[in-house]
Amino acid sequence: MAGYRRQLYRDDAVVLRVQKLGESDRIITLLSRRHGRLRAVARGVRRITSKFGARLEPFGHVDLQLAGDPKGQQGSSLHTVSQVEGIDLYGKRLLGDYPRYTAASAVCETAERLTPVEREPSLRLFQLTLGALRVLAGGEHAATLVLDAYLLRGMALAGWAPALVGCAVCGTPGRHRAFSVPAGGAVCRDCRPPGAAHPAPATLDLMTALTSGDWRVADAAESGVRRECSGLVAAHLQWHLERALRSLPLVDRGGPAAGAVGTPAGGVGPAAAGVDRE
Ligand SMILES: [Zn+2]
Repeated sequence: MAGYRRQLYRDDAVVLRVQKLGESDRIITLLSRRHGRLRAVARGVRRITSKFGARLEPFGHVDLQLAGDPKGQQGSSLHTVSQVEGIDLYGKRLLGDYPRYTAASAVCETAERLTPVEREPSLRLFQLTLGALRVLAGGEHAATLVLDAYLLRGMALAGWAPALVGCAVCGTPGRHRAFSVPAGGAVCRDCRPPGAAHPAPATLDLMTALTSGDWRVADAAESGVRRECSGLVAAHLQWHLERALRSLPLVDRGGPAAGAVGTPAGGVGPAAAGVDRE
């Protein structure tokens, strides 16, 4: 054990990812309500007799007691799960439905990528992620629509929302026909860069409806419009995630989560661990 006192603290969290560790342990990646994204070791959960195991599956909303330094300033960044209660274990309801399961996986992967720094609280992203998993488990809207709504709103929280009403470059109000990811969204005729896409007007309407939560419009969208919307949303997200990675300072990136944000193996030295912002 490290030479410092580990504190016990409680929080509720969404289980984003579960990885094996040794014979019987797991590393759980969590998005918590008050402590941001963190990783914790769950000891013995792969044993059949474990009470924890079934509660620590991906997509679950759980209440936890954790041991470690909540601010992460001392010792290992890995905390230990000492108690866990299931609040809503959405994973069970998603397992039998491939589209909803893959959408939930994409939600959790994106949540991880939108929180490159551990223990940086983001209550709104936590609520957005929990809400998306709840709606996916409930099955009241198509999985791709729920995912795209999540991605659009997650990008808005990150400050990357595509411009949909008004030109992304010059601000000229109105609906514009062209859409350019590098330009930041819909663009007017004068600002339209080469290679801009020309989506159907209904596609931009769908993106607007998903951003604002207008499910009446969203549920009525035709399949071709939904596909075009998903393509633009995915391209917009990808472009911004890649840019964000390049500008990310060298912060706490040791350990298993490093791969999740595509961090190159080089460039993370011992000094980097001391730059943790929290
Ligand atoms: Zn313009």
